[in-house]
Amino acid sequence: MKEIESDCGRAELLNLELNLVEEFTSIQGETSYAGKTTRFIRLGGCNLDCSYCDTTYSKDCKEFSAVRIGDIIGRCIASSVKTVLITGGEPLLQAASIPLMELLLEAGFTVLLETNGSLPIENVPDKVVKILDCKCPSSGESAKMRLENYKFLNSSDQVKFVLSGRDDYDYAKSVVLQDSIDQRVSEILLSPVCGRLDPAELARWMIEDSSPFRLNMQLHKIIWPKTERGV
Ligand code: SF4
Repeated sequence: MKEIESDCGRAELLNLELNLVEEFTSIQGETSYAGKTTRFIRLGGCNLDCSYCDTTYSKDCKEFSAVRIGDIIGRCIASSVKTVLITGGEPLLQAASIPLMELLLEAGFTVLLETNGSLPIENVPDKVVKILDCKCPSSGESAKMRLENYKFLNSSDQVKFVLSGRDDYDYAKSVVLQDSIDQRVSEILLSPVCGRLDPAELARWMIEDSSPFRLNMQLHKIIWPKTERGV
């Protein structure tokens, strides 16, 4: 990894601050990166209110602390982990998330971004792997999806549908088909909402359909079922 503080003369960018909820090293629980040791950066604030949200604490303003980009990157480098996930809340609500991604890429990290699909993604650096949520009807937020985002996805990106039942499953299939999203990205992820949709039921539908999509289980909830934060 490059020593970013000393060699790049980017003091202004490194001094920008982000509202940070938590940062930690854990096992990536989702996507095709599941199982990899990853540095997590969870930024605060969200513009949506999904019915099944499992990170409501990330929307609670009282829990934020303003942290310099330089300090966040320094701790990523110290962790010796090669992959960094920026998540939330909704990271793109904070303009400084873009320089954070650029500087992490410059430092040699593989950078993943989880974004909720409602905000523009065209300023996200190309080399960042975007994990774009497409909210299904049961979330209560599907009308807020920014459909233009799909044209800015590339072959390393992934689109995730969180499903509460059969209606969501059928909705996900229709959205993918309508915009041929699966032709543009590396993975379509189908993720059952814990306690609402039995993963075995979703697996059965996928097998019946010979689905080309990926069943996306939250590995961290299997490894640490009683731990809600920091994993
Ligand atoms: S977008 Fe994510 S963080 Fe925001 S309300 Fe929905 S599930 Fe929660």
